[in-house]
Amino acid sequence: MTAPLDILAIAAHRDDVEQTCGGTLLKMAELGRRTGILDLTRGEMGTRGSAAEREAESAESARILRASWREALDIPDGRVENTWANRLKVARVIRQTRPRVVILPYWKGRHPDHYTASQLGYEACFLAGLAKLDIDTALRNENSAFSQVASAVASVVAHEKQDVRLAPHRPFKIIYATLYYDIRPTFVVDITDQFESRFESLMAYKSQFSDQEAGKDIFPARAEIRARVESMARFYGALAGVTYGEPFLQKEVGLVEDVTAIPVKSI
Ligand SMILES: [Zn+2]
Repeated sequence: MTAPLDILAIAAHRDDVEQTCGGTLLKMAELGRRTGILDLTRGEMGTRGSAAEREAESAESARILRASWREALDIPDGRVENTWANRLKVARVIRQTRPRVVILPYWKGRHPDHYTASQLGYEACFLAGLAKLDIDTALRNENSAFSQVASAVASVVAHEKQDVRLAPHRPFKIIYATLYYDIRPTFVVDITDQFESRFESLMAYKSQFSDQEAGKDIFPARAEIRARVESMARFYGALAGVTYGEPFLQKEVGLVEDVTAIPVKSI
């Protein structure tokens, strides 16, 4: 059984978290929080590199971001679907890791895997809290009902078979990382001190981002990636009056105790 996490970031692909909220995860780890990353897919459809290469790279990136926990599910790359079986798999991880805060992708976007991961993650957070839901039994029932997911589900269940029954858990807070979508965030995390390490965590995906021939027409060169990542971080930082920032959205209103302590100046 994993010790409970303070924060779990869920994203469709290995390297999504590094691009959208890696600085925030590193900052939280530096504050002594336990952080985790759940990648829904393993990257087997990528133009560059194999799933095995990406696994090693994602472990190196997690080390740079000082994440306490990282795993990838076996949902097919390019086919992240909001199915009952997938919701159960993610809910199982939420019960296993028991995060207080979950970071999801924003619910609109260009890539279907990204916006589907958002809704899938939200519904999994809800399911994980249902006291009467026995996730392993439900997964086993799915297993027998749909033979095409049988081996995938079996591997998920077998992985943690020592846990007889995972207790219900619902995260206190869900926030959305909005960097992939052009929308005004409700808050920005100052990642000025974490920016360089966050960039290094992205560059740990050498199979994706080192300059090479394969996929040259669809992958920008390293210098270009650096310029893009930096300009986005500077833009969101500027909105909040800091050098580098990462944007987030929360559905709830903010709650203020002392109006003289609200950060970000107006005029
Ligand atoms: Zn992605």
